[in-house]
Amino acid sequence: MPEGNGDRTIRVLDPATVNQIAAGEVVERPASVVKELVENAIDAGARTVRIDITSVQGGISAIRVTDDGCGMSSADAELAFTPHATSKITAIDDLFKIHTLGFRGEALASIAAVAKVTLVTKPRGGTTVAGIRLIVIGGVQKEKGETGAPQGTSIIVEELFFNTPARKKFQKNLNTELARIHGILEGIFLAYPQVSFRFSHNNREQLVTDRTTQPLDTIARIFGNDCTRELVPVSSDLPFMRISGYIARPALSRKDHDRILVSINDRYISSAAVMAAVREGYGTLLPRDRFPVAFLSLAIDTRLVDVNVHPTKKEVRLSKEKEIGEAVREAVHSALMKNDLIPEVVVPRQQNRALDSAGIVSARITSGVAEPVVPYDSGARVHQADATYDPDAFTAPARIEPTHTGTVSTDNRLRQTELASGVPPVPAVMPALDVIGQVGGIYILAAAPDGELIIIDQHAAHERIFYEQVSRSMAARHAQELLVPAIIHRSPKDASILRELIPVLAQEGVVIEDFGSGSFLVRAVPAVMGKIEGPEMIDDLVSDLLNSDPTRPVSDRERITRIISCRSAIKAGTVCTLEQCQRIVNQLRTTRSPFTCPHGRPTMVRFSRAKLDEMFKRT
Ligand code: ADP
Ligand code: MG
Repeated sequence: MPEGNGDRTIRVLDPATVNQIAAGEVVERPASVVKELVENAIDAGARTVRIDITSVQGGISAIRVTDDGCGMSSADAELAFTPHATSKITAIDDLFKIHTLGFRGEALASIAAVAKVTLVTKPRGGTTVAGIRLIVIGGVQKEKGETGAPQGTSIIVEELFFNTPARKKFQKNLNTELARIHGILEGIFLAYPQVSFRFSHNNREQLVTDRTTQPLDTIARIFGNDCTRELVPVSSDLPFMRISGYIARPALSRKDHDRILVSINDRYISSAAVMAAVREGYGTLLPRDRFPVAFLSLAIDTRLVDVNVHPTKKEVRLSKEKEIGEAVREAVHSALMKNDLIPEVVVPRQQNRALDSAGIVSARITSGVAEPVVPYDSGARVHQADATYDPDAFTAPARIEPTHTGTVSTDNRLRQTELASGVPPVPAVMPALDVIGQVGGIYILAAAPDGELIIIDQHAAHERIFYEQVSRSMAARHAQELLVPAIIHRSPKDASILRELIPVLAQEGVVIEDFGSGSFLVRAVPAVMGKIEGPEMIDDLVSDLLNSDPTRPVSDRERITRIISCRSAIKAGTVCTLEQCQRIVNQLRTTRSPFTCPHGRPTMVRFSRAKLDEMFKRT
């Protein structure tokens, strides 16, 4: 029991202390002040909002937010600093139909409790000529008077955390704080395209948007045209929710989910459920460790959204979270399926004139791949998501004749994916292509009707075809007995993992029996793999299974499907005849998601006619 606390009577804390405690929740850091002030400006119906940050000696010295909104009367200006004083709700019922960003009446009181706040305001259509100026320091009103002011409100926050040294000390460095402010403002600017915003630091403009009716303009303003070029629209109407916005083609992936920006009822929020749903909507269009770029706005029946979970309202509680997540995933998925997702090869402008030693202009996929896509290990080591001409990258000579046995085995593999039944046809999302030839036993060159050159990775393409057959057709998964059962041997550790996988494997058509002491008998493989594979292949498949990371967020079944597809697909380095190449391309066209392999890497890239003209200086 602690000593020196003789007096244990319960006392009600004085208001100043209460406010400081509350302030700790709302006003964590400078960025929270910015968020609250800007949200107030929006709630006040502002058309233009300015955010000015001043810093000296590596610390933020002033935050000023100026708006042309409704302003406040003299009495309201004073009330605004009183805890739980708000003009936005009057009773508890209002909490379930909130259409403003604020409603708790906490922010101004909390900020003023830990800083010096200067408020200048003049109400819209007010009778007074002058505005009101009010200074509150540490929760105590210090000055009140009249001043010349334009209509609207300007709030300056200085000496933040002057009376809470602990909090002040924990502020990260200036750049971290500015980055947080930037991040918060990005979300708000996107959610309010109808407002003009201007954010500056020490009089230098950082982020500016102009009021517009086109959300795409705001996205372009913040993230640039390179981003908007890759976006496809999303829209979906459901009884309880409307989804709208834009998502990027898979080429524009990122290694963080920091560019999945979602607003719910015009409030920029973070909802793990919604973010996960967006990612799931991409399915195998993205490598497993990549995240998409998405700007979505959800209008949800306000009764289903509880924003009163946390003082900063950054998190919301959603009733029907599962349905909402499913709807988002479905909307994202169908938006992607509706669009041509072939990444375009572009010639970087500054390198336009740079010829390599061989005198060939090198091109890169830069349009979208914000960061390089991590190559995966599929036995197709040579291909990279980068079309830079690199002579060393080719393992096979550019032109070799197919061998007889090679052709027969390729034919078998192709027939396997042509015959598999029970896969319902889907409308083609990629153009019909005419194969021109094959390069290096890996890449198929093809022409699209509009004069585009398309390059296809044959392994990735056939892998996609296999994958869809296995995952979409029960028949493809039926077990087919091997004429001669194969025996495989495994170490005790592997054997115990494999033993656990036996039931899952059986569901996928791989029938394995445990023979004890590390031996297993493989009796059957999925019909789609058919007779093409010998026992080595089964052994490899099991190795892949044992080596693949079981912690990654896909089911065992998904893992098995991907491995089967990869193992059964035509390998890179297999020389195909022109006719075989054409068959691969035709089959690819019957898939739902022809643009990426099941690991999310591109199956094809395009040189548009315009790009080709540009490269040959015909423009
Ligand atoms: P809340 O936003 O939750 O109502 P705040 O403490 O942020 O609480 O603001 C208190 C009140 O002050 C608001 O309800 C509003 O009436 C008024 N107010 C704050 N900022 C502005 C502004 N920029 N323009 C007009 N009124 C404002
Ligand atoms: Mg507020």
